[in-house]
Amino acid sequence: MYDVIIIGGGPAGLNAAMILGRSRRKVVVFDSGEPRNRWSRSMNGFLSSDGMSPEDFIKKGRAELAKYEVELVDVKVESATYSKGQFIISDDAGKVYHSKKLVLATGLKDKVPPIDGVEDLYGKSVHHCPYCDGWESRDKAIAVYGKGRDGIGQALAMKNWSSNVTLYTDGAGKLTSQDIALLERNEIAYVTKKIIKLEGEDGQLTHIVTLGGKKYAQEAMFFSTGTEQQSGLGTQLGCEFTNKGVIKTRRLQKSNIPGLFVAGDAARDMQMVIVAAAEGAKAGVAINMELQQEERK
Ligand SMILES: Cc1cc2nc3c(=O)[nH]c(=O)nc-3n(C[C@H](O)[C@H](O)[C@H](O)COP(=O)(O)OP(=O)(O)OC[C@H]3O[C@@H](n4cnc5c(N)ncnc54)[C@H](O)[C@@H]3O)c2cc1C
Repeated sequence: MYDVIIIGGGPAGLNAAMILGRSRRKVVVFDSGEPRNRWSRSMNGFLSSDGMSPEDFIKKGRAELAKYEVELVDVKVESATYSKGQFIISDDAGKVYHSKKLVLATGLKDKVPPIDGVEDLYGKSVHHCPYCDGWESRDKAIAVYGKGRDGIGQALAMKNWSSNVTLYTDGAGKLTSQDIALLERNEIAYVTKKIIKLEGEDGQLTHIVTLGGKKYAQEAMFFSTGTEQQSGLGTQLGCEFTNKGVIKTRRLQKSNIPGLFVAGDAARDMQMVIVAAAEGAKAGVAINMELQQEERK
């Protein structure tokens, strides 16, 4: 029986493991090796590690855990249940594990717009988060992608990083005369035709091609087309979700299930590496305090 099982070995899960390992708890971390930012070359906005590759960041985190009683197991967890004060976890090989507490740190995945050419550019010059990649795109020709009216807010926001912003509505819906007036007042160009493909080289976007073959020179693209949970384990366990599809948490990352804590992108809050790591640390401390209370004679 483990004190704590952590599902998800991204920044949230690894930081929870570090706090719990340092609290002399018996911990296992399961990870299927698909962190959300694996498409990206650099992880930005994390003080002391700004610009580090996401892969190196995880490697460094895993190495730092070596001196604690933390097992790292590279498998996908298929099922998680809670019964009579115990969590029962099965991995994809059918092996079963038990713990007193559980941290769910399984993250989210992005609904990347299904445009021809996007896969080679995603995380390099096509992004979703201006706080992660806006600085690297500063003063560039920035395209904002959003079906119909969906990209207006992000187009306005991107003016913070460049004066050269164009909104692409991908042939969906219609901009109202008020939308157009707002865009023009803020000197944002707009293209309403359907997008056929993105062109680029070595990860660098060069052109957006619309129906009919017209090419627009662009250097970066931002989109906000939403996210979904990377795993169905929160649903299996009976977690409460917000209407945005993230798990509702209370103080110190507690969920509605006793002993189950949710940290990182899977839980409600800002979605950044440093926030995910901090939530993992909060869950770690809260779990250790609960265990201390339960063990006290
Ligand atoms: C392209 C891109 C670039 C980004 N750039 C930045 C940036 O520059 N700076 C920044 O702060 N943020 C950035 N982000 C956001 C950042 O990736 C997330 O906020 C962060 O990864 C959240 O950490 P997490 O630990 O919650 O989840 P993740 O890092 O997604 O880790 C979750 C882990 O859980 C594992 N997992 C899921 N289900 C299971 C299962 N059933 N069994 C076992 N393991 C499982 C996954 O394999 C994964 O390793 C970026 C995101 C994207 C998509």
